[in-house]
Amino acid sequence: MTTQELEAFAEKLGEPKYRGRQLAMWIYRKGVITFDAMTDLPKAFREQLKETAVINPLQVIDVKVASDGTTKYLSQLPDGEAVEFVFIPHSDWETICVSTQAGCPIGCKFCASGLSFSRNLTAGEIVGQVLIARHRENPNIVFMGMGEPLLNFDNLVKALRLLNREVGIGARRMTVSTVGIVQGIRKLAQLGMQVNLAVSLHAPNDELRRKLIPAKLPPIAEVMKACWEYFQATKRRITFEYVLLKGVNDKVEHAVELARLLKGLPCHVNLIPYNPTVDEFERPSESAIERFRQILADKGIPVTVRQERGTEIQGACGQLRRQ
Ligand code: SAH
Repeated sequence: MTTQELEAFAEKLGEPKYRGRQLAMWIYRKGVITFDAMTDLPKAFREQLKETAVINPLQVIDVKVASDGTTKYLSQLPDGEAVEFVFIPHSDWETICVSTQAGCPIGCKFCASGLSFSRNLTAGEIVGQVLIARHRENPNIVFMGMGEPLLNFDNLVKALRLLNREVGIGARRMTVSTVGIVQGIRKLAQLGMQVNLAVSLHAPNDELRRKLIPAKLPPIAEVMKACWEYFQATKRRITFEYVLLKGVNDKVEHAVELARLLKGLPCHVNLIPYNPTVDEFERPSESAIERFRQILADKGIPVTVRQERGTEIQGACGQLRRQ
């Protein structure tokens, strides 16, 4: 709920409106997890809240911590579904990777989320992940966990607004990652929020892309058009994610074709060496990864290789799984 919704909620329970603002402060800013911790609320009201409401719909049922501090949380939802999210500490900032759906309907060949789709997460279930995982006031949020955010558009937008306006996280600190849902990219561009967009491309042409992502998706040309619109509307540089699969999409010709495709668009390529999840694919050698990177760099495309975090706890890219 927004502060406004919390105000209406308080009034419905027979309390003055400002109690809603107090609730918002406790939940989103102070991050308390029990009503009893809300010490400036009358005791009777706290009792009433305990009976009628929950602060966070997520219940943590498992926590795995890697040696570098990367932490994977497994939470249960009210209907028994489960969802994973990851906390990634850096020296002076932190990133939280959140899920937007229980499972995923897309079915990228190399991804452990596979084709087992249960349902969309509510805005509360998305924001709830951040409230549990954050350690600092202004974390980076990447919508790169399980699910396709732009196929859960309304809840995604509500979550973005709650995180921005209520929790106080800057829009520029949030990145929505999509497999390339063109209509969703266009709608996101029109929100007037400076959220970052990451597009999972994985191939420089439609033929190869279809082999890796069999779902019926708009052609790359359409995706690129929507990316240009997104840049024009938000002035945010677009990130392109590219999972490197040995012998499949990591050849010189692919890098050359990719550079041609992206030419001129303010963007950044994030190469993700494949994290083994299925036997069908392998991770390229370090020299193949470096060769691919170098070709893009030589052609003037800003490019980085994603640093791996949390592989040992199955918390790395593509490893979140609905078991
Ligand atoms: N559905 C959204 C966000 C979730 S996936 C999207 O497609 O962007 C976040 C990123 O992890 C995507 O780029 C996805 O392709 C990548 N990924 C999935 N499985 C992977 C694996 N096994 N190794 C490396 N990256 C993977």
